Amino acid sequence: MQAENSSKDGGEPPAGNRFQALKKFSSAGRGYWHDVADADWNDWRWQLKHRITTAEQLQKFLPTLTPEEYAGAKLANHKLALAITPYFFNLIDPADENCPIRLQVIPKLAETHTASWEMSDPCGEDSHSPVPGLVHRYPDRVLFLVTDRCAAYCRYCTRSRLVSNATGYDFHPEFDKQIAYIAAHPEIRDVLLSGGDPLLLSDDKLENLLSRLRAIPHIEFLRIGSRIPTFLPQRITPELCAMLKKFHPLFLSIHSNHPRELTTEVRDALGRLADAGIPLGNQTVLLKHVNDDADVMKAHLQKLLMCRVKPYYIYQCDLISGSAHLRTSVRTGLAIMEKLRGHTTGYAVPTYVIDAPGGGGKVPVSPEYVLSHNADRVVIRNFEGKIFEYPEASDGTPLSKPPKKIEEPELV
Ligand code: SF4
Repeated sequence: MQAENSSKDGGEPPAGNRFQALKKFSSAGRGYWHDVADADWNDWRWQLKHRITTAEQLQKFLPTLTPEEYAGAKLANHKLALAITPYFFNLIDPADENCPIRLQVIPKLAETHTASWEMSDPCGEDSHSPVPGLVHRYPDRVLFLVTDRCAAYCRYCTRSRLVSNATGYDFHPEFDKQIAYIAAHPEIRDVLLSGGDPLLLSDDKLENLLSRLRAIPHIEFLRIGSRIPTFLPQRITPELCAMLKKFHPLFLSIHSNHPRELTTEVRDALGRLADAGIPLGNQTVLLKHVNDDADVMKAHLQKLLMCRVKPYYIYQCDLISGSAHLRTSVRTGLAIMEKLRGHTTGYAVPTYVIDAPGGGGKVPVSPEYVLSHNADRVVIRNFEGKIFEYPEASDGTPLSKPPKKIEEPELV
C-alpha cells in the first residue's frame, strides 16, 4: 500500500510534505556507536576524544566516501583540520553524496583551489587587532578570541587561517593583555567571546574569564558565539548553564545552517540555555546545496523559533580561500529573503549581510521594497508585489509649538 504522504508516481514528495519533513525533530541516534554506554555517549569529553580526524577513519565510518572527499581529507590537516564529533557524524546521510551535513564538515579536494579574489583573512581581522586575539573593528565593541579549537571544523570557516592551527598561525591569546586593553578603553561596552569555540573551555576557566570581564565597570553586555550547541549538545550541561546565568546580561549566538542540525538533543540543550535566561540568536551561513533553497531556509528558521532561538543573521559566505564550491550567489540570497519577509513570522526573518571584503564590516542587503522616494511621498511595495504610497512628513516641523501666553482669567 502506498504511504499516505508519498507521491503517486513514487518520485519527489509534494512540496508541502517535504517542508513538514524538514521541520520534524528527531534524534541523531547512535549509528556506529550503538554499543557505547549512555554515560559515555552523553559525556562531552568522550565525544571530543572520539572525534573522526583522519581520512582512514572517515573511510571506515563512511564507506561511500568519494575519491574527492578522501583526497580532501588527506590534505585537510595542512589547511583546516578535519574533526567531526560522533554525535554530529550521525546526522550525515551516507547514501547522499550531497548531504547538507556532509558538505559542511567533510573536506573536498576543491578546498585546495583558490580564486584570485579569495583571502586568508576576508574580514580583515588581523589589521584591526590592537593586541593578539582581540579585534576592535566597531566603535563600541570588541571580538575576543578565546581559543583556536572547535568541536568540529566547518569547511567554509572564515577564521580557518588560525582555527585548528593547521597552517601554523600559532595563535596564543593572552587574556591579561586582551582584558587590559578593554579596561583601558571606556568606549567598549560590549564584548563578544568567540574563537574557535569559547564553550570548549572548562567551566572554571570560562567563569574566571567572564568574572574578569564583568568586573570592568564600562562593560554592559557580554556575548558568546558558539557552534557547540549543534556540534556537541552534550556540552550544554546544567552546571554550565548555572555558571553562565551569573553573568547576565549574557547573550549567546549559536551557528546552525540546516534544519536537520536541529535534533531533539539540540532542542533540549537550547532549552536548558533558554531556561537559564540566556537570550539566544542564530547565525547561518548561506551555502551552496546546503541551505540555498527557500523551503530549506524557511523550515530551518521556523524550527529555530521552536527551539527558542531568534534567527539573527544570514551571512553571505565570506571570500575565504578554497570556499568557491560552497558559495552561492547574492542573487540567490536575495531571492530567499524575498520568500521570507511577509511569508512567515517576522521573528523568523534574520538580516542578510555581506561582510565587506577586507574589513568593511557587515553590510545589510535586502530586496528592494522602496520603489521611489521624494520630498512628498514614498512609494513602496509589499511582499505580494502590491504598490502603496505613504505621504512623507516634513522633518522641519518643530517638536512642539512655543507655549502661548496664558491670559489670567478675570476674577468676578
Ligand atoms: S565552529 Fe566557527 S570557528 Fe569553528 S570552524 Fe566552524 S565556523 Fe569556524
